[in-house]
Amino acid sequence: MSLTTMISPRFLEVAACPACHAPLAIDYDASVLVCTNLVCGLAYPVRDGIPILLIDQARRPNPANDAQL
Ligand SMILES: [Zn+2]
Repeated sequence: MSLTTMISPRFLEVAACPACHAPLAIDYDASVLVCTNLVCGLAYPVRDGIPILLIDQARRPNPANDAQL
C-alpha cells in the first residue's frame, strides 16, 4: 500500500497549494501532492500518510523548467 492511498478524496477537496491556493492532485508514481496550477506546479512530499504542505519542503516536478540561462 502506498502512502498516498491514505489520502482521502475529501482531503483533496479542501486542500490547496500554500503557494498559489490552487487545488492539489496526487501523483501516485512519485507519492507526492502536485499543485494543479501549471504555472506553479510545486510537488509536496507525503510522509507517513501526512502531506507536508510547506513551500520550503516542496520541489518542482520538472527540473527542466528551472533551467537558468
Ligand atoms: Zn501552487
